[in-house]
Amino acid sequence: MKPEDFPQEIKPFILPNHDGELIYRCLGCGKQYGIEKLLYTCPDCKQVLLIYDLKFESLKKIPGSIWRKIFDYRKMLTIPALKGIYLYHEFIGPMIPLDTVICLGEGHTPVVEANNFLQKKAGVRFYFKNDGQNPSASFKDRGMASALSYINCLVRKGYVSDVLAICASTGDTSASAALYASFIQPDVKSAVILPHKKVTPQQLAQPLGSGAAVFEIPGVFDDCMKVVEALSENYNVALLNSKNAWRILGQESYSYEIAQAFEYDMENRVVVVPIGNAGNITAVMNGFLKFYETGIIASLPKILGVQSEHANPVYRYYLEPDAAKRKFEPVIVKPSVAQAAMIGNPVSMPRVIHLVDVYNRMSGKQNVFFVEVTEQSIMDWELLANRNGHIACTHGGESLAGLVEARRQRIVGENDIAIVDSTAHAIKFSGFQEKYFEKSLPAEFKISSNPELVNAPVYIQPERLAKVPAPGKPLQGDDFDQFVEQTSKEIAKRLSLKKVPKA
Ligand SMILES: *Cc1c(COP(=O)(O)O)cnc(C)c1O
Ligand SMILES: [Zn+2]
Repeated sequence: MKPEDFPQEIKPFILPNHDGELIYRCLGCGKQYGIEKLLYTCPDCKQVLLIYDLKFESLKKIPGSIWRKIFDYRKMLTIPALKGIYLYHEFIGPMIPLDTVICLGEGHTPVVEANNFLQKKAGVRFYFKNDGQNPSASFKDRGMASALSYINCLVRKGYVSDVLAICASTGDTSASAALYASFIQPDVKSAVILPHKKVTPQQLAQPLGSGAAVFEIPGVFDDCMKVVEALSENYNVALLNSKNAWRILGQESYSYEIAQAFEYDMENRVVVVPIGNAGNITAVMNGFLKFYETGIIASLPKILGVQSEHANPVYRYYLEPDAAKRKFEPVIVKPSVAQAAMIGNPVSMPRVIHLVDVYNRMSGKQNVFFVEVTEQSIMDWELLANRNGHIACTHGGESLAGLVEARRQRIVGENDIAIVDSTAHAIKFSGFQEKYFEKSLPAEFKISSNPELVNAPVYIQPERLAKVPAPGKPLQGDDFDQFVEQTSKEIAKRLSLKKVPKA
C-alpha cells in the first residue's frame, strides 16, 4: 500500500517524523550524555547506561488508539527500512534516518499457539514466539539491527570511520554481530571473542562464515566479557555486547510485536523470558513500559524471568523478599544446556534492579517474577515441545520449564495466557539433543534421558543382499530391483505397515 492511500487520520504519521532527542542516562549517578559518541558506561561513575528520549512526552500527544492504527497500517508499507524493528521507529531510534537503517529481515517473528496436548501437559494456555526465525537464528538480531544502524548513521555523518566492532559471546551475539557488520563492511569490521569449546559448532560457523576475526580464549563467557571490556576501555573499538544500550533499544521490539500480535490486549498475559546477561529481560520490561505510558496498551503483562539452577544469580537476588536487604552476588556457573544463558555476573543487573522496581510500581502490584529450573526439565520440555510442532532451542525449553514451574507455584493463574520466548532456533543447539539421545551428556549436567523422548536413526541394510548402491556406484537391472524390494520390505516390517491388496 502507498502512503497516500492510508486513512486520513493516520496519514500524517504513517512515515515516521518524530524528531526524538536521545541521550544516555547513567543508572548510577543520573548524569546524561549526548549520543554523538558511542558510550557503554558512565564516564564518571562507570555504571551502565540506558537511552532515553527527552521528547518522549510528545509521543503521548498522539492517542493510543491512533498509535495502534499507525503500527497496524504501517505493516502494509513496502519501504524496506520499516519492514523490521524500525516499524516502531519513534520508540526505537527516532533520530536514525531511514536511509541509514540496516534491515536484514529481523523481527516480526511468528507467535505459534501450542497444541491441546502440550497445553494440557504444561497446565496453562501458551504460545511460543519463535525468535529463532530471525536472520542469524536468534533474538540478538533485534539489538544488532539497532546498534549497527546507529553505527552506520555515525559513519554516514562522518563522525567515525573504520570502525572495529567487537563482542564477547556465548555464541549468538557473535553470530549476529558478524552478520550485521558484514553488511556494511569495509566501513565496519568485526571481531568476536568466544569461550573455547563453550559455543556450539553451528554458532562458531556463523561468524566465520560472515568473515569476522574469531578469537577463542580459555574460560567461560564472564572471562571473555572482561577481556572485551579491557579492549573497549583501552582501544578505539565499538563494543556490541548488551552493555551497549543501543542493543537494548532494538530488543524492545519484541514487546511491541507481542502487543501488536494480541491486538494490544495485555490483560492476563504472561511474557516468559530466559535470563543470561539480562539484556533481553531489560528490553522486554522497558518496551512494555513505553507502550503503557503512551496508552498503546492499557495494562502491563506479567513478566516471568527464568534461570537454570546452574546459572541463577538473578533468581537468587530476588529470593530475598525485602528489597532493602537484597544484595547482588555473582555466581560461579556450572555447565548448562541453556548455554547462551550460562552467565554468572550479568552486565545488565543494575538495569534489571531499576526496571523491576519501576515495572512493579507502574503495575500497582508485583508483576515481575523469577523462577529457577533444573537442567533436566529444560531438556525434557524442549524435546517435548519440538515433538509437538515447535522449533524451540534449549532456552525455549528453559522458558517453558519456567512457565510450568510458575504455574505450579501459582505465580501464573489458570486464566493466564503465556507467550514463551524461544530465543534461538533448535538447530543451533542440536548437539545437546544428540547427546541426550545418545545418553552421552557429561554427569555434571545431571540429566538422564527419558526413553520416551529419545530418537535415533535406524540403518537398513537387508542382510541377504550382496550388492548395495554406493556414492558414484549406482546399481542397475536385477541388482537394483532386488535392493529396492528388499529395503522397502524391511522398512515396511519395522513400521508394521499393512499391504494394500492388489486390485
Ligand atoms: C543471549 C541469549 C540469551 C540470554 O539473553 P540475555 O539478554 O543475555 O539475558 C538467551 N537465549 C539465547 C538463545 C541467547 O542467545
Ligand atoms: Zn554515573
